[in-house]
Formats: sequence, C-alpha cells, structure tokens
Amino acid sequence: MMKTALFSILAAGAAVAAVPATPQSPLGGVSPSPGSYRGGLNKVISESALLSFHRDIVEIASVTGDEHDVGEFIVRFLQEKNFTVTKQTVTPETASQKERFNIYAYPEDQPHPEILLTSHIDTVPPFIPYSLEGADDDGDDSFNRESIAISGRGSVDAKGSVAAQIFAALDTLAEPSSAPALGLLFVVGEETGGDGMKRFSDSPLNTSPPSYHTVIFGEPTELALVSGHKGMLGFDILAHGRAAHSGYPWLGRSAVSAILPVLSRVDQLGDIPAEEGGLPASPKYGKTTVNLGTVNAGVAANVVPATAQANVAVRLAAGTPEEAREIVRQAVRDALTHDDDNVSVDFSHHSEAYPPQDLDTDVDGFQVITVNYGTDVPNLVIHDSPAARVKRYLYGPGSIHVAHGDHEALTVGALEEAVRGYKRLIQAANKN
Ligand SMILES: [Zn+2]
Repeated sequence: MMKTALFSILAAGAAVAAVPATPQSPLGGVSPSPGSYRGGLNKVISESALLSFHRDIVEIASVTGDEHDVGEFIVRFLQEKNFTVTKQTVTPETASQKERFNIYAYPEDQPHPEILLTSHIDTVPPFIPYSLEGADDDGDDSFNRESIAISGRGSVDAKGSVAAQIFAALDTLAEPSSAPALGLLFVVGEETGGDGMKRFSDSPLNTSPPSYHTVIFGEPTELALVSGHKGMLGFDILAHGRAAHSGYPWLGRSAVSAILPVLSRVDQLGDIPAEEGGLPASPKYGKTTVNLGTVNAGVAANVVPATAQANVAVRLAAGTPEEAREIVRQAVRDALTHDDDNVSVDFSHHSEAYPPQDLDTDVDGFQVITVNYGTDVPNLVIHDSPAARVKRYLYGPGSIHVAHGDHEALTVGALEEAVRGYKRLIQAANKN
C-alpha cells in the first residue's frame, strides 16, 4: 500500500511539473529544479511520522461499511508500536462484505486504561483522494510549512483526530515515568448511526464500573474544547388518502392536503415558544432546529395523491427526546384540519435519539465552543456514578464546515497543534 501510494504521489508531482523530455539549458538566472514545489510539499509530509501516518490512512478509502482495510493498517501500525490490540467485530465477513471491526488498543502490560482516547475511522462518501496544496502558491516554489493544506476524504473527519490521538499517546508514553494508563478506541460506523460505538458500549470491554476516569473524543472542533452538542430526534410523518382522477378530486382524498398543515406546523416548532407548544430553546444551545429533510408524495400530477411522507430531523437544544416526542405528537394533533385526516407520526424508524450532551471543559488554554452536529458521545454509555463521574472531552483538528464537503482539508499546523492539544488534555486528566 505504502509503495503504491508513494509512487502515485511522485507520478503526480512529475506530471504537474511537466518535466521536459530532454534537459533544457537555463534561460538565465536560477531555474528551480523540476517538480521542486510538489517535491517540497511531499518532503514535508514524508519527513514527519505524524503527517505520513495521516497521509497513509487518508489514502485508504473507508466510507462507512468499507472500514476493513484502514482498520487493518492501523492495527499493524499500533502493533509495531508495542500496543496490545483487540479487533472487535461489528459486522462479520459475508460473501459480499469484508469484516468491519473496532480497534481497541493499550500499551503492553496496561490493560486497564484510565484515559480513553477515541474517534472513528469511517468517512462519508464519496472517496476523495489525498492531495497537498501550499497556501501561498503564487507561482514561485515557496510555501509556508504550517499552512500546507492537506485535502482528502476523512483528512478532517476524523482521520485528523485519529492520527493526532495516536501520536499524542506515543509522545506521552515516551516518558513512561509520568505516563498514565492510556487506551485507544477507533470505531466504525459513526457517520451512519454509530453501530461501532454501540457495539463497544454494550460489550464486556466497556466495564462497569469503568477503568477509565476520562474519555477524550476526537472530532473536528477547530482545536477548541466543546462544552456540549445538541440532542437529536428523528421521525417520519405519514399521511394516507385515496387515489382518484384529478378531474374528480371529490372521489378521492388527498394525502398532500392532509399533511400540508401538519408539515407547516412541525416546520415552525423550533421558532414557536415552548409555552405555546413549540420545542424548547436553551441559553447554551440556542433554538431547537427542525429540518424537513425529505418529503415524498403522490405519483402524477393528474392523480389525487394517496400517500405522503416526510422525514424529519430535530436538533434538540433542551429537554429529553421523550418530551420532544410528546410536543411533536401534540403539534400534529393541533394541526389536523379534519378529524378523519389520516396523518400519523412514526418514531420507530429512528432509534437514534438523545438529549443535549454536556461535556467537560475544565482545562485551561483552550477556546470553548458548542457545536450543532452529532457525535458518538451519546453512544458510549458510561457506567459511572455521581461520586466517581467520568469526564468527557471533545476536541480535534479541522473544521466541521468542510468535513462532509468536496474540499475537506486541514493544515499541517492544525494537525500538529492537535497532538499538543491532546497531550495537554491527557496531562490535565492525569492530575485529576
Ligand atoms: Zn466525525
């Protein structure tokens, strides 16, 4: 894998530099050697163990469901660094799909981690190849090392966190006298419901009480500590009518006419005050937001639609999913214009539901933010007690704003700073 990858980078560099078939004599002054700009960028990466490891895992496609190969690569890397590694099967191998597994690792002789570093190895589709760009690419061969942009699917979400966590752990363990017991957990399936983290959470590896007193989650947070993220609730709204010729609509019953007022009401639930039946806001997270993500209805313009369905995602700023479900049910009842309107709300296809997740931020020197995206945080059920509460931090390099887009990228500087940030979090947790 590594040889192939290296070759393709060199080949790409040569193509960009348009190496002439026969050497030309310089036209005057100093001519930069062919490919020196690309070569310089590649050299920065290959001279750093962190940046090379990050490149290697970004180059291996691992869209959710296809995490096997990147998992094997990380397992081999950790074993070479003397970690004891457990591959926890999440989906067994089948005729059509390779095995999917979580990676759980700890240094030899330290099977009971006090501090658990965790992130995910799956990415959203489509795969985007690894590439490098100098920020001040103004035609000459200069670039600023810190500002080199590393692009590719997963470069930010979350392979930047995976690489930085591993190297922060290696750095910490390099001073064995002061190193706490560290564990690494890299899961599959975070992008599509968290089956990897749920598997770990339900397994004997997640002991009760936990061996760990601190969990550090890695996701793109722009190097800030996240004080919490919104909760989540998903549901479908369904309407049933009766089909008829559109010239004789009174012979049928339109599912769209029935669902429209309901959708209109539900769409506004984040803006309606809670005391008037809306979903609650909070000072910390702002408003609850509602997204009518898909609406499907009918079969043709000249047919009265017999069915309509909407798929809704709510980001909860306060309260519990159960309270939110009741508010949604009541809103649907309130919006119905006729008693016989056959409209219902169905929560059963959306098992992922959780309240806002409050996280710890009691380490100095970090900017503190809240975020609106979901993570694996609620999927790890921690069997702690008020007397011995496990602390949870969320931190990582890169921005969520590019994470799922066509230009997912972070800088060399951010990736290297994340290693320092994770080390500071580990050291602070070790003192607690
Ligand atoms: Zn992520």
